[in-house]
Amino acid sequence: MRSLCNKFFRLTEDGISKWTPIGRHNKRVKNLIIFCGFSTVICSAIWGLYYLNRWDLPHLSINLILVLIGSIILMLAFNNYLRCAAIIMCHAILFMVLFASLGDIPVDNIPRSVHMNFLPVVAATFLIFHREGIYLRFVLPIIGLLLFLAVALNVMPIPSSVLAAPIEGRLMGVWANHITGIVGVSIVVAMMQSSMNARSALESDMRRAIARGEYHFHYQPQVDASGRIFGVEALLRWHHPTRGRISPLEFIPLAEETGLIIPIGEWGLRTACAQLTEWSKSPQTSHLTIAVNVSVTQFRQPDFVQEVKSILLLSSAAPSKLKLELTETALADDIDVVVKKMQALKNIGVTWSLDDFGTGYSSLSLLKRLPLDQLKIDQSFVSDLLSDKRSLAIINTLIDLGQNLNLAVIAEGVENEKQLTALQSIGCLSYQGYLFCRPLPILVLNNLVVGEEATGHIRYQSSPV
Ligand code: C2E
Ligand code: CA
Ligand code: CA
Repeated sequence: MRSLCNKFFRLTEDGISKWTPIGRHNKRVKNLIIFCGFSTVICSAIWGLYYLNRWDLPHLSINLILVLIGSIILMLAFNNYLRCAAIIMCHAILFMVLFASLGDIPVDNIPRSVHMNFLPVVAATFLIFHREGIYLRFVLPIIGLLLFLAVALNVMPIPSSVLAAPIEGRLMGVWANHITGIVGVSIVVAMMQSSMNARSALESDMRRAIARGEYHFHYQPQVDASGRIFGVEALLRWHHPTRGRISPLEFIPLAEETGLIIPIGEWGLRTACAQLTEWSKSPQTSHLTIAVNVSVTQFRQPDFVQEVKSILLLSSAAPSKLKLELTETALADDIDVVVKKMQALKNIGVTWSLDDFGTGYSSLSLLKRLPLDQLKIDQSFVSDLLSDKRSLAIINTLIDLGQNLNLAVIAEGVENEKQLTALQSIGCLSYQGYLFCRPLPILVLNNLVVGEEATGHIRYQSSPV
């Protein structure tokens, strides 16, 4: 529930680095919303005072409503509810500009001007929602543009009505509307430009990062019912020379968009296999498996199977110790091709885990066809497990499903003992999460595994390393 709320209200979680594309985008969106909120409040308050002075109640009310909308937008933006603020802002302003255009009836020497305010909203929509779904990304700005054209070209017949603004204020209005329209569009265009520059700078940094050895893995232990570490998940980290640590959640989406995920993914497979070879030399670590996240773009490469095979061959790592994690998005492709690729690697001993399980749309018949070994219950269900009965019911169903299909089930994101007890009681026997261990640098992990081998189990560790 909490994650659903955050998804709707916030563009991303708080605390994201201001240097990353997402962090910077959020900062830009926040500045834009604050600019728009303040200009709406100030302009409407000035016009409100003007109409109050003339005791023109219809226009006074429109401007009071706009002051209220602007204040709500500002309040949401200051509390970081950026997505919600942006959606309200774009819809409300389009509607209010349309409404105000009804009173903007042109007369001799005083052209129509309120519609100029459609333009900054349309431009802002393109900037803010470029990663969103089709409605926010395309339909909403197109509606704004069509409204602009309809009013500007007078396609939309506007009857002279009681809403017609007084002639005395019109000339001032023409100036005010042109200024807000042009300044607004200029600000959004400047932001788009700086967004493109930042993106291309980060892209070239990402490209160079492989050669400069700035990527590394942190390994998060996966434990069985007795608390023993049987494997780890390799989680990518990027230590940028000037910007510091950057989380994969922030740069992987850009790597996916630019195709850089392919060389990064290949680096990840090579690193994980080299680590498996290293571990195979010691009896204390030779039992460990490594789960590597495979992005959809990487999996879609026609030579993906061949690439994994040759990396395994060159590193001499045991294929059975390599686990590949795929998300349900990969299953949306031609399923025959997906099964063929998975089966080809399974034939040589590589195992497959379905990541973030429960958040996608894979059906039972689809799951039956896939040569999977493990289902990984998404952490959103685990985090809501104690507060939301539906999450418990979903986890129960997923575990039953795993048992019926003869697949191992692992829960990720286990953060406290209550969640662990609840998971144990419904038959989930493998876990990964902060309760056991945060993702660790390789040296710390090796020490932990060696210590664990001596005591037989891992100490719970709920504090960050
Ligand atoms: P994921 O595959 O679902 O990885 C699990 C994420 O949950 C990791 O975040 C991990 O640090 C975090 N996590 C683990 N235990 C807990 C817990 O108890 N509570 C909470 N709240 N979080 C926990 P991380 O490392 O930031 O990775 C985020 C995502 O980035 C991963 O999600 C994965 O989709 C992607 N990713 C990471 N490494 C790679 C990689 O090498 N290749 C690709 N393609 N994607 C990667
Ligand atoms: Ca994963
Ligand atoms: Ca996951």
